[in-house]
Amino acid sequence: MTIPRRAPVIVIGGGVIGASVAHHLTARGVRGVVVIDREPRPGMGSTGAATGGFRAQYGTAINIRLSLLARRKLLHFEEETGVDPGYVQAGYLWLASSEAALDALREANRLQREEGLLEATMVSTEDVARIQPAVSREGVVGGAFSPSDGFIDPLKILEGYRTAAERGGARFHYGVAAEAIERAERGAVCAIVTRHGSIETEAVVNAAGAWARSVAALAGVDLPVLPLRRQVVPTAPTDSLPDGMPMTIWVDDGYHLRMRRGRALLLWPNPGVADKPFDVSVDASWIDEVEQKTRSRVPALRDVPLDRAGAWAGLYEISPDKHAILGPASGCRNFFLINGSSGHGVMHAPALGMLLAEIMTDGTAASLDTAPLRPERFGEGQPNAVSELL
Ligand SMILES: Cc1cc2nc3c(=O)[nH]c(=O)nc-3n(C[C@H](O)[C@H](O)[C@H](O)COP(=O)(O)OP(=O)(O)OC[C@H]3O[C@@H](n4cnc5c(N)ncnc54)[C@H](O)[C@@H]3O)c2cc1C
Repeated sequence: MTIPRRAPVIVIGGGVIGASVAHHLTARGVRGVVVIDREPRPGMGSTGAATGGFRAQYGTAINIRLSLLARRKLLHFEEETGVDPGYVQAGYLWLASSEAALDALREANRLQREEGLLEATMVSTEDVARIQPAVSREGVVGGAFSPSDGFIDPLKILEGYRTAAERGGARFHYGVAAEAIERAERGAVCAIVTRHGSIETEAVVNAAGAWARSVAALAGVDLPVLPLRRQVVPTAPTDSLPDGMPMTIWVDDGYHLRMRRGRALLLWPNPGVADKPFDVSVDASWIDEVEQKTRSRVPALRDVPLDRAGAWAGLYEISPDKHAILGPASGCRNFFLINGSSGHGVMHAPALGMLLAEIMTDGTAASLDTAPLRPERFGEGQPNAVSELL
């Protein structure tokens, strides 16, 4: 394996986030960006495990703004990169089973509409029957719906940004791990050490997803990003539900489902295994619980078997306030962080990659005020308000 000896920018991590950064830097005229990823092929990190939901229905202004910016870019993604991102506006339907959940949806909806997401509305149980006739309304007290949310294809977005960046001269080297990061006397990072040799550089981007903390530690930077396992189980192929149905989420316990290529994908967040944070095995008992929830909540799937052997798990990259961390690391201003999207990294990649490229080339992001995402916020005691539900 031959890798360059020098590059103006090295991106560590060739998932959807690293590829987006490489593309947007290249588009802004940075020549010779190098991306390294320790896995042998693209998509072997969290990006390949993602199910491809896209939503602007969030509970904080900054996440809504990131989604609206990402949506504008997704609508022109094919022109920008030559690849169809598979963006389908099938909608996201949130179902509340308690007054507390309904209040949280109401509060979020008020904010969404303030931010210009006028198509997002609160819905009654009668509306739910019309929008999503396939689910049981037992215990449901109301919900929220936005028709412009929907689905994207994570690997297509990665491919689009990677190939566009390569056409502009960026180089992706898979099978190359960053093993050490060297810092010069005045504190700036100056080289990445790999098994295939060192690469001297003027700037490093940490785009290492759920592994970002250990990559930051190589540069002596403390980054509060932790992995969290998410499991998915598909059903056997079925035509009991249409592929175009909205993502449907029970807010109170996070159980949700969508259709993808003729199968329902079933998800339910449950805690990871504390002593095995990077474990991505699937628990048989978790599948049993998901099966029970599905039988009672989705009558249309009652007789459809789950494809247990086809279940998979991957890792979210959780920050303390579940919002992305974006910008130069404090104390190391040429080590750039684009981390901690907390399970929203595919949908926000178009926005975050562009914003970081603006910060790196102009010193500030002109497209959006990224102050709420600044890395220093935790040390300053000013994290974003966390909504447990959204
Ligand atoms: C089950 C599941 C469902 C999800 N669903 C959605 C969804 O619907 N919508 C959404 O937006 N997001 C979703 N996500 C979250 C999404 O997958 C992540 O937010 C996103 O993929 C993060 O992108 P990334 O490029 O930062 O991470 P990754 O794709 O993990 O890329 C990071 C890369 O860094 C590399 N790396 C790590 N350490 C090193 C090193 N030392 N040297 C070199 N390379 C290194 C890894 O090999 C990896 O390829 C889901 C995640 C899971 C697990």
